[in-house]
Amino acid sequence: MSKLELGELQITALTDIERFDVPLTTIFPEAKSDAIKNITWIGPEILSSGLLHLKIRSWLLRLNGQVILIDTCVGAHKDRPNWQDWHQRDGVNWLSALAAEGLKPDDVDVVMCTHLHADHVGWNTKLLNGRWVPTFQNARYICSKDEYGYWSEAAALGDDKHGSFSDSVLPIMEANKMELVDSDWDLGPGLHLEMTPGHSPGHMCLKAKHGQGAVFAGDIIHSPIQLAFPEISSAFCNDPVQARESRLKILNEIANDDSFLIPAHFPNPGWMQIDRHDEGFMPRFVV
Ligand SMILES: [Zn+2]
Repeated sequence: MSKLELGELQITALTDIERFDVPLTTIFPEAKSDAIKNITWIGPEILSSGLLHLKIRSWLLRLNGQVILIDTCVGAHKDRPNWQDWHQRDGVNWLSALAAEGLKPDDVDVVMCTHLHADHVGWNTKLLNGRWVPTFQNARYICSKDEYGYWSEAAALGDDKHGSFSDSVLPIMEANKMELVDSDWDLGPGLHLEMTPGHSPGHMCLKAKHGQGAVFAGDIIHSPIQLAFPEISSAFCNDPVQARESRLKILNEIANDDSFLIPAHFPNPGWMQIDRHDEGFMPRFVV
């Protein structure tokens, strides 16, 4: 797996699901197929036969001996009957990817959740003797106060989305390993959290000020298609208007410098630099 090195910061993708297909019309009902066909850099690795291809991955960061995970994908043995690709998985891919980096779950120091959707918190917990327990026994888990508050209230009202709050978030809180943070929080030297609400009420990005810089963008953007059409929010966004504002803010910042955009679901290698183009943006192609 390729690595991105920014100064002292080493970045590696840990992929849980290599290919998760969603019909374009399901995830982006506003998208116009004809307009997309005119964008020559949108290739079959992004969209083919009306299906949008997404990766589901975590980002592994190493900085001065610290091991940090950003998001924990779908996980293993979780009951997700509404999403067959996520239901009762064995989790071998993700654990092998971690092992290939010479790491065990106990080596992880920090787990940051950009938000609490089921495809971002799965490996937070593992099944042990019929109970969900933290997978990363030595880690502190970080989540925004707003995000936790929203989902804990929703779960109390019976809307636990796919069950992920109960099986992948609550056990972390009960084990006293969850730290709820406000905006403008530092995760470590040169690692700054910023609230980017919209996709979910308390969504956060992680900005890394190392080398050329990077923004770990979670789900403020799902597919490179939204570079060309940044006004389009996904059907899975809690507040599509706010999601668009957060997306535009971050994309504009990244386009102003040489930093890397690193979302959760982009095609390989998973990161890119971007430039402004027409009404939106496009990947920066190195020639
Ligand atoms: Zn996601």
